[in-house]
Amino acid sequence: MTAQIIDGKAIAAAIQAELTEEVQRLKETHGVVPGLATVLVGENPASITYVKMKRKRSAEVGIRSFGYELPADASQEEVEGLVRELNANPEIHGILVQLPLPRHLNEEAVLAAISIEKDVDGFHPINIGRLAMKGREPLFVPCTPAGVIELLDRTGVEIEGKEAVVLGRSNIVGLPVSMLLLHRNATVTICHSRTRDLPAVTRRADILVAAVGRPQMVKGDWVKPGAVVIDVGVNRVEDPTAKRGYRLVGDVDFEEVREVASAITPVPGGVGPMTIAMLLTNTVRSAKRAAGL
Ligand code: NDP
Repeated sequence: MTAQIIDGKAIAAAIQAELTEEVQRLKETHGVVPGLATVLVGENPASITYVKMKRKRSAEVGIRSFGYELPADASQEEVEGLVRELNANPEIHGILVQLPLPRHLNEEAVLAAISIEKDVDGFHPINIGRLAMKGREPLFVPCTPAGVIELLDRTGVEIEGKEAVVLGRSNIVGLPVSMLLLHRNATVTICHSRTRDLPAVTRRADILVAAVGRPQMVKGDWVKPGAVVIDVGVNRVEDPTAKRGYRLVGDVDFEEVREVASAITPVPGGVGPMTIAMLLTNTVRSAKRAAGL
């Protein structure tokens, strides 16, 4: 069997096109312009790139973006003060504090200062807490995990009743993905660095989500024939033939696993493009909620 390739780039582009229309309609019909504030502390080059991309994509769909940059030595009070200001600004419907923050800052306290109504990254402890509880709905779901579910939904993969195995239990990906799959009535197993005999566990999966940050760890014989494989991993491996001297690979050995799975996401071009698409979706949803729509 050769797997269907799940094209995250195309799916993200479709979401962006839908959002562009929705934002236009919101403006014309209700005079509402969704606004997203990005907060960048310090000069981490990867963070600068991510924030730039988020602002560019926001502009493309018609979301107004508000950029705030604080120096690397900004104090806890300065960052939290800015967050409180943004909480109070009615033109802003989403607040994104780019992580990681410089070490001297208390990340947990900064995230907790964001109003849960504007927590478009979905990392506020109340939103995560609601995600973890049966019968409760968070106002926002973290973007990469939401993107994983959206990819499954838009590929027509049924989740209910399936065996889902998630590799990784981080706060950003593994744990929230597991909780979302559980909300959708999958039977979920979460694996981590202390799990014994990983291949035996992953071979049970109808849906396998890999988020470990280990290049090409998941091999063909780790996967049940016909499984759907979502690869969240983004890893650099040396490649002297590449212009930059490296290339990006996922946590899954794509060439091996595509021969076994029924569907698989590539890296790059799978989960990656979905993260910003879900951030924009959350921002538009927030603007609608604030307007009572
Ligand atoms: P973390 O390093 O925070 O978490 C990795 C998880 O994998 C941990 O739970 C760890 O276990 C587990 N793990 C590590 N090594 C092994 C192993 N050998 N066997 C079993 N489990 C293992 O990573 P993140 O969750 O932040 O990211 C995971 C991957 O996803 C990375 O490649 C990252 O670049 C990518 N990513 C992609 C995004 C996107 O596409 N938009 C967004 C975010 C992340 P333990 O808990 O026991 O330590």
